[in-house]
Amino acid sequence: MIKNYLIAPGPTPVPARVLLASAQPIIHHRTPQFSRIFADAKTGLKEIFQTQQDVLMLAASGTGAMESAVTNLFNPGDQVLVVNGGKFGERWTKLSKTFGLEVVELKVEWGCGARVEDIGKALEAHPRIVGVLVQASETSTTAVHPVKEIAALTRSRDIMLVVDGITAVGVYDVPMDRWGIDALITGSQKALMMPPGLAFIALSARAWERVKNVKTPRFYFDLARERDNLSKDTTAWTPAIALITGLREALLMMREEGLERIFARHARLAAATRAAAAALGLRLVAPEAPSPAVTGIYVPPAVDGKKLVGYLRDRMGITFAGGQDHLAGKIVRIGHLGYVGAYDVVTAVAALEMALRKFGHAVELGRGVAAAEEIFIDALPE
Ligand SMILES: *Cc1c(COP(=O)(O)O)cnc(C)c1O
Repeated sequence: MIKNYLIAPGPTPVPARVLLASAQPIIHHRTPQFSRIFADAKTGLKEIFQTQQDVLMLAASGTGAMESAVTNLFNPGDQVLVVNGGKFGERWTKLSKTFGLEVVELKVEWGCGARVEDIGKALEAHPRIVGVLVQASETSTTAVHPVKEIAALTRSRDIMLVVDGITAVGVYDVPMDRWGIDALITGSQKALMMPPGLAFIALSARAWERVKNVKTPRFYFDLARERDNLSKDTTAWTPAIALITGLREALLMMREEGLERIFARHARLAAATRAAAAALGLRLVAPEAPSPAVTGIYVPPAVDGKKLVGYLRDRMGITFAGGQDHLAGKIVRIGHLGYVGAYDVVTAVAALEMALRKFGHAVELGRGVAAAEEIFIDALPE
C-alpha cells in the first residue's frame, strides 16, 4: 500500500465531513427539502465572497464561470484589457477572442504580479476599454496581481473589473463589495474543499445593469435567468445536487473557522513553505508577489523537474503540480489551499527533500522541514 497525498493547487483534498454530506441519497431538486440546502449554501457563499450580491452556482468547472462573465458582460467588438501573466491569464484572452471581443493584452512576466502603473497607462492609451479581466492569484506562476489597486482604477470609471479569484476566494482577503469588484469567480475544487464540478460567480449592481444590454449569445450560462431561479432557491437547470449538499457542509466548516483565521492559516502555510525552500537553497518562482495558495519552487538545474514530479507521485504517493509551457520540467508547485494544515506542508517538504536527494542533489535532510516547523511552532497554543 502506498498512501497518497494530494498537494496540488487544485483539485485539493476534501474533508470527510464534506464527502459524507455528498454521499447522502439523492433527493429531488424541485422540492422544499433541496431548497433548504440550497438556501444555506447561498447564504454561506455571500460570506465567503464578502458581498451583499447573489452568488450564482453553476454546474461547471471554474472556466464555465469565466465564460459566463465574458458572455454576460460584453458584446462582440467591446474592447477589454486582459492581464496575461500565465496560463489562466491566457485563458481570458482565448475566451474573449472566442466571443468576438477586442483584446488589449498586458503581458506580465511569469512569476510577477502586474504593475498598477502599467494598467493605468493601458487604460489611458485605450479609452474604449470597457472591462479589465485579471486573475487574483495566477495559479500557473504562483504570483498574485494587485486587485485592490486595480479596482481603485476601474470603479471610478465605466469599466468592469472581472476577477478570476479561483485560488484567492477563501484563501486571502478579496472583499468584493468593499474593493468594488464587478465580477468575482471561484470554483469548488480549490479553497472550498470540494470535488470539482461547481463554479461560482457574483456580479456587482452596476454589472447587473450592464448585463441587460449585452447581446452576446448565451443559453446554459445565462446569468439573469440563473439569478431569477436563485431567488426561488433553485437553479435554472438540474443542479449538481450531491455537490451542493457537500458545499453546504464545506461552507459550515468555513464559518466555524471564520474568514480571519482561514486567511491567517493560509498565510502561515505559505510562509512555512517559502521558508523551507529558502532553507534548502531553492529559488521561488514568484519571490516578489507570492500567492498564499500555492508556492512555486525552481528545481536545481541538474534535476529534471518532470521526472521528479513523476517520481514523487508514482513512487512516493505525493502529488505536486509541475510547471507549464516554458516552466515545464523546471519547477514544482506545492498547493496549500483548502483543507490543508501544518503537517501537510511538513509532509510536502520532507518528501521534496527526499526526492531531491534521490535525484542526486545534495540535500541536508530535515533542513527544510525544520524551517517550516519554526514558523508553525509559533502558532501553537500555550
Ligand atoms: C483552477 C483554476 C481555474 C479553473 O480551471 P477549471 O479547470 O476550469 O476549474 C481558473 N483560474 C485559476 C486561477 C485556477 O487556479
